[in-house]
Amino acid sequence: MNSSSRTPLPPGIHVLVHDWLSANAVVTWDDAQSASVVDTGHVTRARVTSDGVRAVLGGRRLRRIVNTHLHSDHCGGNACLQREHGAGAPCPILVPAGELPGAGAWEQAASGVAQAGQQAEPFHADAGYAPGDTLWLGGLPWQAHAAPGHDDHALMLFQPDARILISGDALWEHGFGVLFPEIDGGDGFAAQRRTLRHIEQLAPRVVIPGHGAVFGAPGAALERAHTRLDVFEADPLRHAAHALRVLLKFHVMEQPRPAPREQVAHWFAHTAMVRRAVRRFWPGQGEAAVFEQILDALARVGALLPRDGLVADPELH
Ligand SMILES: [Zn+2]
Repeated sequence: MNSSSRTPLPPGIHVLVHDWLSANAVVTWDDAQSASVVDTGHVTRARVTSDGVRAVLGGRRLRRIVNTHLHSDHCGGNACLQREHGAGAPCPILVPAGELPGAGAWEQAASGVAQAGQQAEPFHADAGYAPGDTLWLGGLPWQAHAAPGHDDHALMLFQPDARILISGDALWEHGFGVLFPEIDGGDGFAAQRRTLRHIEQLAPRVVIPGHGAVFGAPGAALERAHTRLDVFEADPLRHAAHALRVLLKFHVMEQPRPAPREQVAHWFAHTAMVRRAVRRFWPGQGEAAVFEQILDALARVGALLPRDGLVADPELH
């Protein structure tokens, strides 16, 4: 983890750039005594995130946790940070208003984390925020903007004076997050197009993405994102295969050590979101056959390493 320094940010805004399992955490110095954090990474990295946040608090108290959306790699550290930084007065957790009912109740089968077969520690959300709301972070007002496409309820935060955008998974320097609603027959492609156009209208100078380094001059990133979206829109099966590759890679990254291949195949065949994608995009093929195709595709590019009956992530294990 490191603070990104490639693109200058106003004083009091610290970006903890994590590996790809864990979203970046943005720590803001709100005044001399208190700070906020936007997104908290994955539960398996929660201690690293908590220590990283502490290191940049400059003695301030963490008074608020904000999530751009409730995927396991963005809110997995919520409970840990609240525990470790909330001595005396637990800091409240603010989530997109559309997610407020049931937010953090990952033990429920209908929760997003359970549907994606991922890991997260449950937490209690205290309040919601919605498009049009203003959040004060780092002593500056930030506008909440809708960012559907990757996630129906996702929000971005835009600071109009410094023109900084906290984009979550709506825009990275090279791409954007899987358009999960599309897997379920919802609005993914068109919503993502609207979100990209909305970002163009905001005209940020600097983007703090959910994953990867902070970047400036986002015109090129937006152009790449539109092109990528064109490709997916023209070939929804290609996007679905991408989604399953991401979910499978993510699952292996969540494991502390290489996992038995049979166990990974079992996870794949019993994960609700995967099953829906297989039914929709590979009709007539079973989960077992699609698993072999997806694993093979990941192995071919070196993203996963199946060997000796185990599946490893070559960078982690
Ligand atoms: Zn996400």
